[in-house]
Amino acid sequence: MSERRCAVIGGAARAAAGGWFTVVDPATEAVIAEVARCAAAEVDAAVDAATAASPRWRRRTAAERGRICRAMAEVLGAHRAELAELECRDTGKPLRQADADVTAAARYFEFYGAAIEALYGQTVMSDPDRVAFTVLNPHGVSAHIIPWNYPLQLAARTLAPALAAGNTCVLKPAEDAPLTPLRLGELAAQAGFPPGVVNVVPGLGTEAGAALAQHRGIGHLAFTGSVPVGRQVGAAAARNIVPSMLELGGKSPQIVFGDADLDRAVPTITASIIEHAGQNCSAGSRVLAHQDVHAELARRLAGRFAAVIIGPGHADPDLGPLISTRQRDRVLEYIDAGRREARLVTGGEPVPGPGFFVRPTLFDDVPPQARIAREEIFGPVLCVLPFRSAAEAVSLANGTGYGLSAGIWTADAGLAFAVAGELRAGHVFINGYSAAAGVELPFGGYGQSGYGGEKGFAAFGEYTRTTTIAVGRPAQL
Ligand code: NAD
Repeated sequence: MSERRCAVIGGAARAAAGGWFTVVDPATEAVIAEVARCAAAEVDAAVDAATAASPRWRRRTAAERGRICRAMAEVLGAHRAELAELECRDTGKPLRQADADVTAAARYFEFYGAAIEALYGQTVMSDPDRVAFTVLNPHGVSAHIIPWNYPLQLAARTLAPALAAGNTCVLKPAEDAPLTPLRLGELAAQAGFPPGVVNVVPGLGTEAGAALAQHRGIGHLAFTGSVPVGRQVGAAAARNIVPSMLELGGKSPQIVFGDADLDRAVPTITASIIEHAGQNCSAGSRVLAHQDVHAELARRLAGRFAAVIIGPGHADPDLGPLISTRQRDRVLEYIDAGRREARLVTGGEPVPGPGFFVRPTLFDDVPPQARIAREEIFGPVLCVLPFRSAAEAVSLANGTGYGLSAGIWTADAGLAFAVAGELRAGHVFINGYSAAAGVELPFGGYGQSGYGGEKGFAAFGEYTRTTTIAVGRPAQL
């Protein structure tokens, strides 16, 4: 049954002048909610509310802000079943993945709620006639634009460090999956965030998103999404000289050397492209297979792919649907291109019936110049490319323009470290691979995967600005 969901502005629910847009369950194609279609007027109101709340919020002690962030972790935990079910219905992902997203979201608030108390500036003692020290200030109002694949987790990933550091926030969730970020906005009051500190303005990218990115009242822009939109919002922020962070797409390689433990590698590689139907910025979507293991690896991957259980998220299968008709068509178009460019081993078909399902698809002997080897497909499609030497593997791994994550599978530690040092990727995993990888680990891309830093203590660098105060030695001393 469809319900109406309002924006959260200044601590109150607000409908939008532009009416409502619909959100569908990707497993059934049924409308599950009508959501306020915010645009410039509502974004103005949200930025005004965040601006009004800013002076008091930034003047709270770090301990107070931290306590409220940690209370938010508790509130999310207390609503775990509700949030997991909502995320599962809205995004289509299997229930246990949605549940893991709630845990991760709570963990962001817990981590930054604790870490903020250890955020200090520096003292610079280089000149005996001067004492200098740095003060870390919040930006003021920080704007957050997020995609539909991990709505709750990505909302928490950017909001938690920003709020802990003393920013007030305006969040624009994606139109395809806005429900858990809206719920997070509602629950913020329960945790103790004052009105106006957390605002959520759902709407279309070209309306609410564009209005927020261009807004002159924001002090920072955190964007997570695609390269083309990242380019637009980054340009909008630059026009206003607003610092921005772009977390964009990826085409992450998994390099499998001849001595790799395939019993460990194969399930992990499969899971990393099956998780949320491959709609994951860090999906390990390219397998670079040394010629010694290539045939065996492809055979084992094909066996795993054939055994994947497909179904609606609430049945907790291995593989749920894609997010929308548009996304399914895009993935099928790539698969068609792949049939012409490489060898289809398994999959390649949509699943008949309601819902946006596509079978897990494996291509082998994919030439490096093929579109499916270079472009982000964002679906359950894995490409295997053979290589002969470590140098060739590095060249292939770095050869797409993206640089988000990478995996290395080998028993040779020296080889693993040497290759890791050559990869242009924000995250390199050795004998393991995980999209989320833990709140504590700094994350961010190279090249077309974006710039700026999320996660870990380092994220505070993104959400603060530095003032250096230099004090001259008094003349009488
Ligand atoms: P998208 O770029 O289409 O949309 C992202 C957000 O931007 C949405 O909220 C959308 O409404 C908004 N938007 C769209 N047009 C806009 C405009 N003109 N101005 C302002 N905002 C606008 O991306 P998507 O399809 O929602 O998500 C998939 C992409 O996100 C993939 O490329 C994926 O790799 C990337 N992603 C990256 C990370 C990361 O951490 N690097 C994490 C998750 C997803």
